[in-house]
Amino acid sequence: MAWDFETDPEFQKKLDWIDEFVRFEVEPLDHVLGSPYDVKNPKNIKLVRPLQEKVKAQQLWACHLGPELGGQGYGQVKLALMNEILGRSHYGPTVFGCQAPDTGNAEILAHYGTAAQKEKYLRPLLDNEIVSCFSMTEPQGGADPLLFTTSAVKEGNEWVINGEKWFSSNAKYADFFIVMAVTDPKAPPYERMSMLIVPADTPGIDILRNVGYGAEGEGSHAYIRYTDVRVPLDHMLGKPGQAFVVAQVRLGGGRIHHAMRSLGEARKALDMMCERVISRSTQEGRLSEKQMVQEKIADSWIELEQFRLLVLRTAWMIDKHKDYRVVRKDIAAIKAAMPKVLHDVASRALHLHGSLGLSNEMPFMGQVISSYFLALADGPTEVHKVTVAKQILRNYRPSNELFPSYHLPRVREAAQEKYGDILDAIDDMI
Ligand SMILES: Cc1cc2nc3c(=O)[nH]c(=O)nc-3n(C[C@H](O)[C@H](O)[C@H](O)COP(=O)(O)OP(=O)(O)OC[C@H]3O[C@@H](n4cnc5c(N)ncnc54)[C@H](O)[C@@H]3O)c2cc1C
Repeated sequence: MAWDFETDPEFQKKLDWIDEFVRFEVEPLDHVLGSPYDVKNPKNIKLVRPLQEKVKAQQLWACHLGPELGGQGYGQVKLALMNEILGRSHYGPTVFGCQAPDTGNAEILAHYGTAAQKEKYLRPLLDNEIVSCFSMTEPQGGADPLLFTTSAVKEGNEWVINGEKWFSSNAKYADFFIVMAVTDPKAPPYERMSMLIVPADTPGIDILRNVGYGAEGEGSHAYIRYTDVRVPLDHMLGKPGQAFVVAQVRLGGGRIHHAMRSLGEARKALDMMCERVISRSTQEGRLSEKQMVQEKIADSWIELEQFRLLVLRTAWMIDKHKDYRVVRKDIAAIKAAMPKVLHDVASRALHLHGSLGLSNEMPFMGQVISSYFLALADGPTEVHKVTVAKQILRNYRPSNELFPSYHLPRVREAAQEKYGDILDAIDDMI
């Protein structure tokens, strides 16, 4: 058995190309364009498409997908290493054809879509001609899907959807929504809901507002009301009552990719922090010479590297087992750890830049907000920690004794029983 922390030289060459390309061609887009999801905006088309062509020419397009869907089938470790670089830029994932939530929605369509659904929705989605929206969370509760009430009732050849959804990201740019709705209220709790594809121009979809973060004006997280929204019966994804099973498909890989991208973002914060502290002087010395500043640099690096190893090991396990269920605990652990790493590193970077760091002339406030976003999107940290704990506890058995199995008097007695005779014999000899 071998432990190897090196990237193979051929793929390293690709990573070097990606690194240079993202730094010099892609990162500037973050400063001149609006949302990467605004794919029909003429400015996006003009600037983004040629870069996507360069990525395709390098055979690096949509690497989360297998070759049958136009991807490279690289596996999760390579994807993780790529995403770490793409995470430096908001446009990185879009330029490389692997932006969330389209990646997850594409995975659902690839797994459960009919030939007609794939042709109509998956193909243009993979080509980034259109983007999509996953519309699941409701205003009365997101972390507990059993609270959802949006319904889809069968009438003739159609499903008729009524209800409200909250924080449906990118709805305003999307060509279609994947909506989770109750189709059989009397079924067991996890079989009550189904997934439906809803074209964005279907009558009855009303975006009440596009919610933003903090003091931001209009954002991109839609509060949507669905009133008698009708879709043909064949717009269901999977079978009736399968919404939870279908939703699982989009979560595993997506979380790993998010983790590596946020690592890239946190590393960018560390890079900026390091440049600042070796450049700025105060009280007769560089900031970098103060031990409390050094501690912030060291803590940031240690946290980043610890997290990176956890993510890469999990990616490696997915490649090895090819089954997300085996790595459920590890993926949940990554999801729980990721916001804290980004939060702590970005906050230190902000703080070490003083007033400039807090200002809107630096990216740190945005990064801190991103850390809160990561702690909520795809479920709050607490829920993932519960998964980790439950999976760990499965490997333990209760002790039926009054004192625990590791109670020292008991352990000593057992040790004495095991080695006592030998030790007594030696005592007799000396
Ligand atoms: C940036 C962003 C993008 C999003 N995009 C989408 C999207 O595209 N589509 C979509 O459908 N949804 C989306 N969401 C919604 C997201 O899935 C929910 O925010 C998330 O599931 C939490 O639901 P909630 O916001 O209703 O919080 P609540 O369910 O009200 O939970 C609030 C808090 O209660 C605590 N809590 C909840 N459950 C537990 C528990 N079991 N144990 C202990 N504490 C608990 C946690 O502290 C949690 O943060 C997005 C959210 C964010 C922040």
